[in-house]
Amino acid sequence: MNTLVKRSFKYRFYPTEAQAAELSRTFGCVRKVYNMALQARTEAWTLRGERLDYNATSAMLTTWKRTEELSFLNEVSSVPLQQSLRHLQKACFRFWAKRAKYPRFKSCKRSRASAEYTRSAFRFRDGALTLAKMREPLDIRWSRPLPEGAMPSTVTVSRDPAERWFVSLRYEDSSARQLPLTDTAVGIDVGLNHLLTLSTGEKIANPRHQRRDHLHKITTRLVRENQTLVIEDLTVRNMVKNRTLAHAISDASWAEIRSMLKYKAAWYGRSVIAVDRWLPSSKLCSVCGALAAAMPLRVRTWTCSCDATHDRDVNAARNILAAGLAATVCGADVRPQRNTPGGQSAAKQKASQREPWDSPCSQGRGSQGVSLQPPVGWKQLLCRPGVSR
Ligand SMILES: [Zn+2]
Repeated sequence: MNTLVKRSFKYRFYPTEAQAAELSRTFGCVRKVYNMALQARTEAWTLRGERLDYNATSAMLTTWKRTEELSFLNEVSSVPLQQSLRHLQKACFRFWAKRAKYPRFKSCKRSRASAEYTRSAFRFRDGALTLAKMREPLDIRWSRPLPEGAMPSTVTVSRDPAERWFVSLRYEDSSARQLPLTDTAVGIDVGLNHLLTLSTGEKIANPRHQRRDHLHKITTRLVRENQTLVIEDLTVRNMVKNRTLAHAISDASWAEIRSMLKYKAAWYGRSVIAVDRWLPSSKLCSVCGALAAAMPLRVRTWTCSCDATHDRDVNAARNILAAGLAATVCGADVRPQRNTPGGQSAAKQKASQREPWDSPCSQGRGSQGVSLQPPVGWKQLLCRPGVSR
């Protein structure tokens, strides 16, 4: 079975003077439109508590173009302008879902100059790429071949601070083969002393040399060996509170591992489930379900009142796996019901706002939940459908 996977290739190109002028003008208009839409969204939000959507900002763009002072917006292709409104929509969405900070205004100096073109705004034929409002194709240095038959769906042109020009072509690749199904699942804990600890008890060391290569090998292996991979939904935002941990997490290249697991799982037909970051994975006994009172980071092994002795990280990985499997069975997110502001806001980030790969079971079944309060062990982790928000 084949699956469609989005891939992109980036190349350097050398614009003619006319092309450089056209692109610079487009970059300026993209930035202007983005900032004006952000301004409008900010006002709507702060003054009226209103969330503007893409359509509202798109209608504004039409109005702006009709005014005399903004008539220059008509001189460039409208597609990159629309695309920048779509990007802003995504950025606001991530903010509302508490996954990102509020979007920032684009400045001339700080922001990357770029413009995104979709199918209707470029022509790609016989290896020649021509953008809207241009007569000649771009002079692209094809440093590696675009796979045969690949038809770009999106083209992004950018210029870096050193005045070098790049074009990135995104296309859908149907050649990625799915692996045969297996029934194995693994829970993965991100650690300080080890890069990863698996629910199987295996510990994977932090890479010393050729880091990226190492990460590729690990993630490919994990995806090949397991049908379901359960990870903790640790975001950088949550890590900032604890600097030591934040440091370790970034050292451990967690974001990179996560993204590798995500796209490789898509390639090979596996699923990655992210369980809630409030899961008390370190403190919960994976044998009896008792919750230890406190678990400072220096505690590496502990013994539960049920006599089970745990390696801190392996125990955590087992709890992560169990929570992920519970989510699969229930078709629900694993979200503790807590009466703390943090817990409540986490509960409000609904399944519909998560990425599809987070939990294949949560799609279309948004309003169910699994209660982790009062604390229960994974063997007793039962589905509780119909928990309302
Ligand atoms: Zn126990």
